Amino acid sequence: MRIRFWGTRGSIATPGLQTARYGGNTSCVEVRSSRGTLLVLDCGTGAYPLGRMLMSRGGNGLRGSLLISHTHWDHIQGIPFFDPLFARGAEWDVYGPNGPGASLREALAGQMQYDYFPVTLDEFGARIRFHDLVEGSFDIEDFKVSARYLNHPALTLAYRLEADGASIVYACDHEPHARMLALGEGELTGEDRRHAEFVAGADLLIHDAQYTAEEYPAKIGWGHSPIEYVVRLGQQARVKRLALTHHDPRRDDEAIDRMVQSNRERAGAVDVFAAYEGQIVHVGAPGAKAARRRSRELHAEAAVAPEPGERSVLLAVADAEASSTLSAALRAEGIRCDAFSSAERARTLIARERPWLTVIEHDPPRIEGMDMCRAIRSRTGEGDPVLPILMVAGEPDQQAGGAAGVTDWLIKPFSVAHARTKIREWVLRTARAPAACDAADGRATATATQVFDAGKARRSGEPASAPATEMNGGRPDVIPDGDKSGLLWMFGREIASFDNPAFSSNVGRIIARAQTAPHRGAGKAASVRRFAGRRA
Ligand SMILES: [Zn+2]
Ligand SMILES: [Zn+2]
Repeated sequence: MRIRFWGTRGSIATPGLQTARYGGNTSCVEVRSSRGTLLVLDCGTGAYPLGRMLMSRGGNGLRGSLLISHTHWDHIQGIPFFDPLFARGAEWDVYGPNGPGASLREALAGQMQYDYFPVTLDEFGARIRFHDLVEGSFDIEDFKVSARYLNHPALTLAYRLEADGASIVYACDHEPHARMLALGEGELTGEDRRHAEFVAGADLLIHDAQYTAEEYPAKIGWGHSPIEYVVRLGQQARVKRLALTHHDPRRDDEAIDRMVQSNRERAGAVDVFAAYEGQIVHVGAPGAKAARRRSRELHAEAAVAPEPGERSVLLAVADAEASSTLSAALRAEGIRCDAFSSAERARTLIARERPWLTVIEHDPPRIEGMDMCRAIRSRTGEGDPVLPILMVAGEPDQQAGGAAGVTDWLIKPFSVAHARTKIREWVLRTARAPAACDAADGRATATATQVFDAGKARRSGEPASAPATEMNGGRPDVIPDGDKSGLLWMFGREIASFDNPAFSSNVGRIIARAQTAPHRGAGKAASVRRFAGRRA
């Protein structure tokens, strides 16, 4: 694979003498496989020079795919200036996340409305297909692509690309879930650990590193990572090379040099560098065997069209500010909200409303969210999770949260945009999961969150993308093939109730052993594939 950076700046294009070396154009990365398949990661202003280069080589008849991480300006502003989209005979597939209600196409058309731009999306000359993505995997010719949500105040996908026997991960824009991590402290747990599993073992990780730990306290909730966290992530996830990108617009070339220099030592074996415009990186080798089997998990393009108003969100939040922010977010998403103040009431509502998710605050002694969460879990399906429970708190306590049945955290203070994104993420995940509970008797059957908690990753199809290594207390534990999604899906009803990280990693090992055994069950693989196909 050949990777070329066309835009490495974050937030806003910053041309000028002070940024000449690393470049002033916003996010855009060109990726080509040895067979010539062309993927473009994000379409910030860097897409303009890329488009011109492609046209100079004969843009008519050109084929390629744009993978958009999210629709913030600095990731899409190059689209109206990307000449190959205007070329007759050219063919482009445009992929990106969509939220309930708005398609990717509509979001992109927004920036080309009459008031903002003289040409509309309909006037492109190329044949363009838009693909709304959720978490999962799919193939683009010889590339296997996996997508996973990031932590950003807009629905944002990270992409893991595998081809030529190598893998690269593009994770832009992203903020660690636990704020302690951003300051360079604490363990990778919960969603942070799952993010690490997604990037694990990559030959090249291209990651947002807009801030330093020192700057971070003033940027909490802006959805970006400090370099200290990213370097540690790269090291613990055992990536080979780490390209820092989405450089802060206020950081000049010398400051970027200093930032990288002062963090190089802590990177250990990871080759860390700040990506610059025009830089070319090669990974893998032509004809090399794909690191893993082909997709047999949930398809990232599976049609998911949740009607937000159809189901509600349950809310038990005491903090006035958090509560009003959540209410504003739910209103903006068109989702009903049901307040509750006891586990008993929550249980009744869960059975009756089949909510998208439950949001509870933990801020003792004012509100004992953990107790409430434990009580809800213990009364619905013998202690098994029934639906996602999002815990609102000042800082996540993964250990206590895991024991109580917390699915994810929303850390205070948070903005309406951040709350909307979290809600969207979970609505989409819930909509994709099997029925959350049997309303007839109010008891859990096989449920959304049983699978979520067994590892959202599995349900979202991550394993296939996944990492040859899994995080294990900071020591990645090598698993030849961690693809246990099919198995977990197949037996989800039976095993989810007692699944936990240790169990799931044991399942991975058993499957890996079975796969490396001489008989290497083709029949089993086929049945997994059949089953996964039905789910998708
Ligand atoms: Zn950005
Ligand atoms: Zn952004």
